Amino acid sequence: MYKRLNRGIVNGQLWNGTVRQSEPAQRPDAPHGTKNMNGRINYQRMLEDTIAAHRKAGEVPTLLLHSCCGPCSSYVLFYLSAYFGITVLYYNPNIYPPEEYQIRAKEQVRFIEEFNEKAVHPIRFAEGDYEPERFYAIAKGFEAEPERGARCHRCYRLRLEEAARYAAEHHYDYITTTLSISPQKDAAVLNAIGGEAAEQYGVKYLFSDFKKKDGFLQSTKLAAEYGMYRQDYCGCEFSLAARQAAKQKAGAI
Ligand code: SF4
Repeated sequence: MYKRLNRGIVNGQLWNGTVRQSEPAQRPDAPHGTKNMNGRINYQRMLEDTIAAHRKAGEVPTLLLHSCCGPCSSYVLFYLSAYFGITVLYYNPNIYPPEEYQIRAKEQVRFIEEFNEKAVHPIRFAEGDYEPERFYAIAKGFEAEPERGARCHRCYRLRLEEAARYAAEHHYDYITTTLSISPQKDAAVLNAIGGEAAEQYGVKYLFSDFKKKDGFLQSTKLAAEYGMYRQDYCGCEFSLAARQAAKQKAGAI
């Protein structure tokens, strides 16, 4: 069951579907004019076009925003909350250890509460169960993969399929994720997996690449402004071990 942590929280049943653990099968079709000269999809342009279309129609669609942590959500909420009715979904069974999961969850809630004091459309919050066994099931056999590799693709899919399932159950117009704000994350892979997950559950994916327009830099500034805890590893125990090994090699510990 979803936990009640904050005002505006939505309750729901967790997980009925199965997680397909293939690589993304396809990239989304880009509307005319949203590919750059290299033929790559301009996800920022897609996002701007979507926002413009809804503004023109006088609509404020609902958006279920999967978030990995407060700092990554900060810029995304500043950017999107003027245009969407947002619920942040904190569903991250990948995070290790459990104490780290709790710290990130609390920082997420604290940031939303402070942000809501001046938000155009107040942000709501929902937290999924912390069920690391699901993460270890999809990571099995991929433990030694480097960050951005197959383990990460499976980790994105686990979280985005849950976001899509929840969004369908609670009738949200769109889902998306804060994950693309990280320079370590490939927006094309995230958008492909997110698009497949959304299609599977009959909701729309908000194609985006939040690292564009200095999104990552803006998120670091906001994290500092709000005094947020900011971790130095992605989340799972494998990324923690890789980070510690890199620090040791650099003589930092
Ligand atoms: S490095 Fe990050 S994205 Fe990759 S599996 Fe670990 S927690 Fe998931």
